[in-house]
Amino acid sequence: MVSMEAQILDSGARLDFDRAMTLYESADLWHLGRLAENRTLSRYGRQVCYSVNLHINYTNVCRFQCRFCGFSRRLRQSGAYVMTVDEVVSQARAAQKSGASEVHIVGGVHPELPFEYYKDILKGIRQACPNMHIKAFTAVEIIDIAEKRGASLENTLKELMAAGLGAMPGGGAEILDAQYFQRVCPNKPGPDKWLAVHATAHQLGLMTNATMLYGYQETIADRIRHLLQLRALQDESIRQNKGKFLCFVPLPYIPPKMKTGKKCAVDAVTEMKTIAISRLVLDNFDYIKSFWPMLGVKSAQIALCFGANDLDGTVQQYSIVDKGHNDNADDYLSVEAIRELVTEADRIPVQRDGLYQVMS
Ligand code: SF4
Repeated sequence: MVSMEAQILDSGARLDFDRAMTLYESADLWHLGRLAENRTLSRYGRQVCYSVNLHINYTNVCRFQCRFCGFSRRLRQSGAYVMTVDEVVSQARAAQKSGASEVHIVGGVHPELPFEYYKDILKGIRQACPNMHIKAFTAVEIIDIAEKRGASLENTLKELMAAGLGAMPGGGAEILDAQYFQRVCPNKPGPDKWLAVHATAHQLGLMTNATMLYGYQETIADRIRHLLQLRALQDESIRQNKGKFLCFVPLPYIPPKMKTGKKCAVDAVTEMKTIAISRLVLDNFDYIKSFWPMLGVKSAQIALCFGANDLDGTVQQYSIVDKGHNDNADDYLSVEAIRELVTEADRIPVQRDGLYQVMS
């Protein structure tokens, strides 16, 4: 059966749901890996990109209590924090001084932060660091901002873009399935709304990214349907030729230590299969990201041989999951360490900017 999928891929045809299921459920990890690696090498070559970036999580206060989330706190709960606009801007300024070209800004859905807070972050960074690419605010944050000010998604995105928004991250997609959302994050805007925000952003010419949280109460079929929905939206966005998804980021679920005592919920074989199947199904995405803060550095490196061609970046700080899971000692990888990881995997490290342009 598996060789038939290989023939389909060789012919240039797309993997449909059934074929993707067959490959994902196959015990032959190496065959799947070779198919994905060959797809990456033949279409995109040996280059693996990374960025010198800084992740900023401006608040952990969130009015949604997704069941898998160990990051969020309720308003005024112990451990809750909100960064001031000045604190966010000064972190971006310091990152620029140390060579960063991109900031990645996401946070919880804070019930009280006004629209001006988000705009002031963008304007402040734009003023302090004119060349810094600002990737900020997931779809769920954008929906909340729009609802709070009683404006449309389109108008809200336009204002944020005018203030300096350069791209959107892909978080909050979880598993794009209404029943899954009902079960796992019932209060959060559902999958149709996540897709609508990204479709609207693309129509406005804004580049975005997409994620999938796997390993938390979903089935393999759910994951494949998630990928197929992203592929369909990307087809439409490419057809319109304004904005599109830049990369896809599969995120393995990491249980909060405080709740479970466990460090890892997803085994390495599933991680590699998920990277590989993502590469094969998402034939209209240029980049599949091996996100080392959640995969762990060693798995992230191996994933480069299973179809991934983006290693994210230096990151510097990452509060979304607990530290110490997998083999990650901290939240920072130096450029030298990233380049060595890529080179040891027999790939060519290439520094990119926030829109995936190669930097000299
Ligand atoms: S996953 Fe995001 S939306 Fe859900 S509770 Fe955590 S911070 Fe809030």
